[in-house]
Amino acid sequence: MTDNITKQAELYAGKVKTIFETNDPDRVMVLFRDDTTAFDGEKVEALPRKGLLNNQINGFVMQKLEEAGVPTHFEGFASPNEAVMKRLDMIPVECVIRNVAAGGMSRRLGIEEGKPLPEPIMEFFLKDDPLHDPMINESHIHVFGWASDAEMETMKALTIKTNAILFPLFDAAGITLVDFKLEFGRFHGQVVLGDEFSPDGCRLWDKTTQKKLDKDRFRRDLGQVIEAYDEVAQRLGVELFEA
Ligand code: UDP
Repeated sequence: MTDNITKQAELYAGKVKTIFETNDPDRVMVLFRDDTTAFDGEKVEALPRKGLLNNQINGFVMQKLEEAGVPTHFEGFASPNEAVMKRLDMIPVECVIRNVAAGGMSRRLGIEEGKPLPEPIMEFFLKDDPLHDPMINESHIHVFGWASDAEMETMKALTIKTNAILFPLFDAAGITLVDFKLEFGRFHGQVVLGDEFSPDGCRLWDKTTQKKLDKDRFRRDLGQVIEAYDEVAQRLGVELFEA
């Protein structure tokens, strides 16, 4: 599917991925770099193999989602750390869903980290590093027009559906999917899951030991970040390919 796609000029370099135009105006090539960032880009480090792991974990998860009926931008791998994606017009809203209290919500509301939630909680953040991704609600999104009401309904439904697909997938791998963040974009008018699903944008805890297997190892200086990402890939059954 991606054989005829060739990489062209660089379009945009984000904090951890670089996006290239291709010979197809509807497709981009995404390079997952080894850079790892936290605190809105204040902490940066290149961790060898992280790009390869995130690209391949993302591709694996996106394919599972697509098979289960979530439209995604993933089209196919181009190299160990590159993939072809649909070119989306991104919606600047981060959709977060939580199954267990942790991180920002625990800090903000004084809820003990690790407290299971009787049902998932959804939150929205404006994608804006200089403003430190402030929390917003549906009223803000409606009034400021960041997404239409119909797009908002689709984003919510797809976030809930993604959680319903991925929670059991990780559970079967002995991992609790604590929370995660999704970003969506428009492709010829359709709302499609974009960005990435990788240990950079979710919390993954070993079901029995509670060991963190996600970017909190980097944020909190716990060490063995890549070892943890490798373990996630292995437990999910991702068949990693190297250069
Ligand atoms: N998250 C993310 N990018 C962000 C903010 C959050 O990928 O800019 C993810 C984060 O990895 C976690 C979930 O969204 O899985 C919820 O994050 P939280 O609000 O707890 O914020 P944090 O503790 O990361 O500041």
